Amino acid sequence: VPVVIAVDGPSGSGKSSVSKAVAARLGLAYLDTGAMYRAATVWSTRRGTDLSDVAAVAADVAAMPLEMGVDPGAPGVTLDGCDVAREIRTTAVSEAVSTVATNLDVRAELKRRQRAAIDAERAGGFSGGRGILAEGRDITTVVAPDADVRILLTASEEARLRRRALDVHGAADATAVEATKDQVLRRDRDDSTVSQFVVAADGVVTVDSSDLDLEQTVEAVLAVVAE
Ligand code: C5P
Repeated sequence: VPVVIAVDGPSGSGKSSVSKAVAARLGLAYLDTGAMYRAATVWSTRRGTDLSDVAAVAADVAAMPLEMGVDPGAPGVTLDGCDVAREIRTTAVSEAVSTVATNLDVRAELKRRQRAAIDAERAGGFSGGRGILAEGRDITTVVAPDADVRILLTASEEARLRRRALDVHGAADATAVEATKDQVLRRDRDDSTVSQFVVAADGVVTVDSSDLDLEQTVEAVLAVVAE
């Protein structure tokens, strides 16, 4: 029977690296739902839409030609036939994405697409029926509350800022941490108005990665899956 694993967490929790590694180890498909909100931001921006115009952004996203790759080794993001895997990670997109992600019509549309992807894997898709790991902010609570395994990956604010600084600046000294701080904290604050990822919902297992490296966190998640 295909397994469905849901992983949520704030930025800098190690969610994406850990999720990809776990999916690869278990031979599962992988869905990065954050990449879908980022792609929606790129799409609406490209069309010249004012991101605060809720109805216009919702209309853009309803017709967004997005294809999500689900191979954890190379999860491609294709928008209108073009690879946007790099473009969705720029600082400009990171700064704008919460405006799009707090648009409830956008959330409804992306939730529908995410559920369709999960159902396709449940029915035996990419991984030959082994299942799927989906990660984001609302997977354990809204997109796949019926998942077989539900995990909230957390980390202390200090650990999250250090990881983000390393990701973005290649260094985690005080200057680099300060440069990412406002962006990370504001984004989490805005995101948490529409999704529950700060405290685990009922039945969701918390894994705290503050004092764990990537491999140790992967092991901790695999242990929860094996329970
Ligand atoms: O995980 P990542 O940092 O790439 O997510 C980018 C943004 O997408 C988040 O800051 C949040 O605004 C949005 N998001 C969301 N719900 C999800 C996944 C991501 O609102 N399930």
